[in-house]
Amino acid sequence: MTELIDGEEIAADLRSELQAAVDSLADSGHRPTLATVLMSPDPASETYVAMKQNDCEELGIDARDIELDVDEPASELFDVIDELNDDDDVDGILVQSPVPEHVDYREVLERIDPMKDVDGFHPENVGRLVAGYPRYKPCTPHGIQKLLEAEGIETEGKDAVVVGRSRIVGKPMANLFIQKAPGGNATTTICHSRTDDLAEKTRDADILVAATGIPEFIDGSMLSEGVVVIDVGINRVDADTDKGYELVGDVEFDSASEKASAITPVPGGVGPMTRAMLLYNTVKATGLQEGIDVALP
Ligand code: NAD
Repeated sequence: MTELIDGEEIAADLRSELQAAVDSLADSGHRPTLATVLMSPDPASETYVAMKQNDCEELGIDARDIELDVDEPASELFDVIDELNDDDDVDGILVQSPVPEHVDYREVLERIDPMKDVDGFHPENVGRLVAGYPRYKPCTPHGIQKLLEAEGIETEGKDAVVVGRSRIVGKPMANLFIQKAPGGNATTTICHSRTDDLAEKTRDADILVAATGIPEFIDGSMLSEGVVVIDVGINRVDADTDKGYELVGDVEFDSASEKASAITPVPGGVGPMTRAMLLYNTVKATGLQEGIDVALP
């Protein structure tokens, strides 16, 4: 029997645990504050930022919203980041990607104060993760760790196969799986667009994380019996619905379910966890910057 991993429910549990931390920080006069900066040519970005702000407000985290026109020069964005870096009331800064082509995203990431880098993408935070003493774990892979933990799925000694090597999902996921720490200690393979005979690798997986951005790319024939399947993909495909599209993952759900012992749905699997972990990192950022030991779930 295949278990459907309910990301919505696990994320709701996490949020209610985080609520206590937010309340206690607010009681001591340090209500967490997250600043989101939107300067994106992608219309979906506006929705993502709005969702992140709603999540904050529900928990009592102050959400500051800065919007820049996509035609503004890069220097405008850098000035905003500098101001937020210098503002003691701001604990976390998130610049929604993608940024316009004339802005160097790498420069953006390097500009954000690493203590306020709640995405965990600043090279200092990436370096700490790789070195084995993470500060802010990137939200999607951290959320996946929490999903596995909540489901009682052990990673130690398991063969984990990560398909995708992006900065935001694949690479940090693999780094978390190889940490000498709970949720780690897995023997980890990273596959990508130049991998030969992908199916041979994916069939070795006890835990498979799919993050390619290719709709229904991994199907049941590429999996072994009993695998745990974590589908990160969120892809819009044309469909006869009111919106004219539907969301599918990077895994072909029906055939994968026939092999998997547990699988995440799309939507309702990894997505809600990513959002919850942003709240987690914001609360952590407040604690670190205020010198308060915050109890985190
Ligand atoms: P990306 O485009 O940055 O990276 C895709 C990766 O897939 C690349 O590293 C590439 O090497 C690999 N790839 C491409 N073709 C391949 C092939 N034929 N075989 C093996 N690997 C191949 O994407 P990303 O930012 O990592 O996002 C991946 C997916 O996850 C997207 O659908 C995105 O929307 C989704 N996503 C979801 C969440 C969430 O919270 N659920 C968060 C981030 C991204």
